[in-house]
Amino acid sequence: MIQLKNSAQIAAMKEAGRITGEALLVAREHVREGVSTYELDALIRAHIERAGAKPSFLGYGGFPASACISINDEVIHGIPSRKRILQEGDVVKIDVGAFYRGFHGDSARTIAVGRVSDEAEKLIRVTRQSFFAGVEQFRAGNRMGDIGSAVQACVEREGFSVVRRYIGHGIGRELHEQPDVPNFGTAGRGTRLCAGMVLAIEPMVNVGGEEVKELSDGWTVKTVDHSLSAHYENTVALTSEGIIITTLLDADW
Ligand code: MG
Ligand code: MG
Repeated sequence: MIQLKNSAQIAAMKEAGRITGEALLVAREHVREGVSTYELDALIRAHIERAGAKPSFLGYGGFPASACISINDEVIHGIPSRKRILQEGDVVKIDVGAFYRGFHGDSARTIAVGRVSDEAEKLIRVTRQSFFAGVEQFRAGNRMGDIGSAVQACVEREGFSVVRRYIGHGIGRELHEQPDVPNFGTAGRGTRLCAGMVLAIEPMVNVGGEEVKELSDGWTVKTVDHSLSAHYENTVALTSEGIIITTLLDADW
């Protein structure tokens, strides 16, 4: 069942979203060659806890950290580690959730470490653009397939592929709620969108094929063909006045 949120609940979700977005801004300041993913995770956790919130991912399904940090051909769910040291040219995805006063925020960004290839830069840019193409369709009366098809068209036009095995989701009192939010689909099909819906819209985009596999650590998801992958996610509420992107604090990022 889809849990629609009233205006007081959306106001609370804005707070959870703000803390989530702030944690990503803190992480961005520290992304550079030589930093471990463990250090980034610790900074994220410290920020969330200082704000009086809890890291949504810590302990979720047994996940051992506060952020998922995935590098290069890792798509999502990378486990922070003292042994994973960022190197010049890496493409690093940081995915964060914060739980505050009963509600979750969920957001991810892809960050270049120093200078990256032209292809990596394009991948990061197109993945972000595809999110906004999807969000543009998040309007009362539209259908879920309008969001997915817009994301997919934006990605495929540039010669990249959309991951299908993992998708976006409703969000609220639970980190993952109904409805499913695929990054592909057919315009005019699927769940009808309405005010009160809050969605985590999160394109995962590969330079090569869409196929992904989970590693034996039980978490990390990689591209099968080892091509680069990018991720961009925000928690977005639809109100009678339009959308609120709760986790977007820097409009250019
Ligand atoms: Mg996320
Ligand atoms: Mg999510």
